[in-house]
Amino acid sequence: MKYLLVIILALVVLWLWRSNRRADQQETPPRRDAAAGKPATEMVACAVCAVHLPRSEALPGGQGFYCSDTHRRQAEP
Ligand SMILES: [Zn+2]
Repeated sequence: MKYLLVIILALVVLWLWRSNRRADQQETPPRRDAAAGKPATEMVACAVCAVHLPRSEALPGGQGFYCSDTHRRQAEP
């Protein structure tokens, strides 16, 4: 009876590991496309601190993009 429980536990662990691996494989193709020069989101650099962030999250200003309103005000008083 003890061995049956161990075998069931091992099968559950194996099943979880395999389903996790399948999830990883499904996530891999978009990453390969990004490496091939097709980024999913365009990255821009802050004109003040040069930190890179997605264009959708950046604040557009007269001299480029900014990471925060503080840096936008700092660069463009
Ligand atoms: Zn900044």
